Amino acid sequence: MEQAAPIRSIAIIGGGTAGWMCAAAITKSFGSKIAVTLVESDEIGTIGVGEATVPHLSAFNRLLGIDEAEFVRETQGSFKLGIQFNDWGRIGDSYIHGFGTIGRDLGLMPFHQYWLKARAAGKARDIGAYSLNTLAAPQDRFMASPVDAPPNSPLADIAYAYHFDAGLYARYLRGRAERQGARRVEGKVVSVAQNGETGFVDHVTLESGEKVAADLFLDCTGFRALLIGQALGVGFEDWTQWLPCDRAVAVPCEKVGPPTPYTRSTARKAGWQWRIPLQHRTGNGHVYSSGFISDDEASAILLENLDGRPLADPRTLRFTTGVRDKLWHRNVVAIGLAGGFIEPLESTAIYLIQAGINRLMALFPDAGFAQPLQDAYNEQSRFEYERIRDFIILHYHATERDDSPFWDHVRTMEIPASLQAYIDLFRANGQFFRNGTEMFGLTSWVQVMIGQGIVPRAHHPAVEWVADSDALAFVDHIGKVIEANVGLMPAHDAFLQRCCAAPAMAK
Ligand code: FAD
Repeated sequence: MEQAAPIRSIAIIGGGTAGWMCAAAITKSFGSKIAVTLVESDEIGTIGVGEATVPHLSAFNRLLGIDEAEFVRETQGSFKLGIQFNDWGRIGDSYIHGFGTIGRDLGLMPFHQYWLKARAAGKARDIGAYSLNTLAAPQDRFMASPVDAPPNSPLADIAYAYHFDAGLYARYLRGRAERQGARRVEGKVVSVAQNGETGFVDHVTLESGEKVAADLFLDCTGFRALLIGQALGVGFEDWTQWLPCDRAVAVPCEKVGPPTPYTRSTARKAGWQWRIPLQHRTGNGHVYSSGFISDDEASAILLENLDGRPLADPRTLRFTTGVRDKLWHRNVVAIGLAGGFIEPLESTAIYLIQAGINRLMALFPDAGFAQPLQDAYNEQSRFEYERIRDFIILHYHATERDDSPFWDHVRTMEIPASLQAYIDLFRANGQFFRNGTEMFGLTSWVQVMIGQGIVPRAHHPAVEWVADSDALAFVDHIGKVIEANVGLMPAHDAFLQRCCAAPAMAK
């Protein structure tokens, strides 16, 4: 056996959400076996957005041993059952991409196949009426699954994510990581030294002259990509041709009512606006394409569409959608914005950080840095980014909107062949084939396809194996069960107050 020396030290460069998630997870998993140093610069600061998540985050929290109530309280958080999309397929349209399942599978067939049959017979409600999350969200109802829920009840497995204050989240993770042994160094990295022979990063030097050396470096420097991009010169594949939004303007505002248990995304003339409800305020932002609208107009649209008084000046952020050619090169792994960016329409960036950490743990190298580990990491990451990219493009492309040059562009543009194949398959008879480990599964694709107006021409032939009256009765029954169970759920705010009311914040 050729067992090389183990990795003894990791330097995480950057202390945003990515840096502190890495530090918290690695110190928790590896304990004192590996020395973890995190370098961050107060002068540069963090991006300060990133406040809506997907349900996978609860698995990350479990890995860290995080108590949910404490976590929600400390981050002024709220619960999220899904995302409401307004004005996407057509102005006036509204649908919800709810987490969790739709209805209940019967035999080999997923529920939506029976729903298609019932719909064709004029006997079905909107697909959302058969999803606990989608029905509960606009009614402002929420609960976590009670431990004593009967296993076949829709309440037994309620899928949810969180909204939280990005600044408080990084602070919360920092506290945990430092208690678990991470060393924090404040300072700005001014140079990156590489080994003359291998090209591996040897150390970084801070403005103060301090040097930080390590076996493995995690580039968490955000859009700067200081190590992977600037030092190692790894290229970036730009996806702007499919996702033309390249800026966002963000502003928090006063909340005017209890936080809703869902994120809202409203399509605008050259992009879309988010609304993220927290306990102490509401987060808002307008993501747009600078090729179709000016910064001033984008800002004005945002400010005209706030629930309450703005609590700060609007802040403009620039970005390019795409991914690094390699996320792991030599002894540098890029995690977070340094590795790539897909706009936050489905709140996937924090998930991609989590997935990067999990993948790194699974493919963790020794000091030999075997190339197959890097290749596997890069291939899997690439796959994951591309599948999420396609899912986001779907929202823009599958639209009837023709009210602005932006919508004309995205509606008529050529899309990746991989996405076209998914759309064609679904249109044929409602089928969806999950490709390997891709993040969004059947219920997500089905809800967004239908929500954006892609309705299959037929259903799966196996649905015909069930007698017509039985299939229709089944769909009807599921709708009634979902409705009755939503009726048992408390108000989201009542649940928050009982479980995890956050302290009042100074204004
Ligand atoms: P940053 O927060 O930018 O952190 C970079 C760190 O590197 C900072 O600590 C900085 O000080 C440090 N640094 C940089 N250069 C140096 C240097 N020279 N020396 C020392 N330190 C340095 N994600 C979601 O999951 N949900 C969302 O709702 C969501 N909304 C978003 C909205 C917008 C408009 C944008 C742009 C992103 C959004 N994201 C969202 C993405 C999310 O914000 C990021 O994935 C997340 O915050 C991680 O950022 P980061 O840690 O990679 O980078």
